Amino acid sequence: GGRGNYCFYTPDMHVFATRRRELEIELRRALKSEEFEVHYQPQVAIGTHAVVGFEALARWYHPERGIIPPNEFISVCEEIGLIGAVGEFVLTRACRDAACWPDSVKIAVNLSALQFKSGTLPAVVAHALRVSGLDPRRLELEITESAMLDDTASVLKQLRDIKQLGVLISLDDFGTGYSSLSHIRNFPFDRVKIDQSFVRDLGTNSDSLAIVRAVTGLCGSLGILSTAEGVETLDQLNILVAEKCDSAQGYYFSRPVPFVETLPFVSRMHALQSQAA
Ligand code: C2E
Ligand code: MG
Ligand code: MG
Repeated sequence: GGRGNYCFYTPDMHVFATRRRELEIELRRALKSEEFEVHYQPQVAIGTHAVVGFEALARWYHPERGIIPPNEFISVCEEIGLIGAVGEFVLTRACRDAACWPDSVKIAVNLSALQFKSGTLPAVVAHALRVSGLDPRRLELEITESAMLDDTASVLKQLRDIKQLGVLISLDDFGTGYSSLSHIRNFPFDRVKIDQSFVRDLGTNSDSLAIVRAVTGLCGSLGILSTAEGVETLDQLNILVAEKCDSAQGYYFSRPVPFVETLPFVSRMHALQSQAA
């Protein structure tokens, strides 16, 4: 274990390494045999409850293990160089599906920091828009602060090129990680997504309320939209209304659903609005 160090080998290290290797092989196969799918979670305007967009979330339909969530495979895809292909698949599918929704409904797609490495991301995005026919203003790309950390000049250049296409850029999971305000100053983000860890504690933890208030206030002053993630209760929603957050996403409205359930959801929310009016 390096100079002047030693470590013990244990059998479970072997089990871990073997499982990991199997996962790598399976992920490569999954991409070829088209086992990845995209689910969609609605984003709802705080004031009106109108569906303003959906977030695309990757799912792996494993033939034996069933549906596997992204936390179990995205980081492995990043490590084995598969994230470019998986990311492009999600983007292309999401743009194609979104083209079937009403014009007022946007699509948000997550990007990995590693998708900026090759420098081809603006071309990949332009291609996805072209083949789907989707209006670029209906596409939002979500990045986390980790994307802004290395090779910042190249990342900023690519983000500007993508914005030139008319696409919107959101800062995801804000409040976790580095939360450097200079990121907000260095790039004109269209939206900040307040991380669910703060939303979860609203109503029980006054520090979380103070943080949410600060972020929505900052966004309001800078002309950036704000979306709260992980809204699960009416109490949380009411606080977000009071704090003038723009939109909300979470189990209170809906879990991520397969594409076939998206349009019925939009219609249901529309019908509820008409009833209320
Ligand atoms: P994220 O972008 O912050 O997405 C939100 C996650 O929170 C989703 O988990 C969603 O299902 C979950 N969530 C939504 N509402 C609630 C709620 O009310 N309560 C709770 N407890 N959770 C809620 P999911 O789908 O498992 O995705 C996890 C993460 O995986 C995403 O976090 C995103 O960082 C990453 N991811 C998903 N799809 C992709 C993709 O296509 N590409 C990349 N690079 N990353 C992806
Ligand atoms: Mg996201
Ligand atoms: Mg998030």
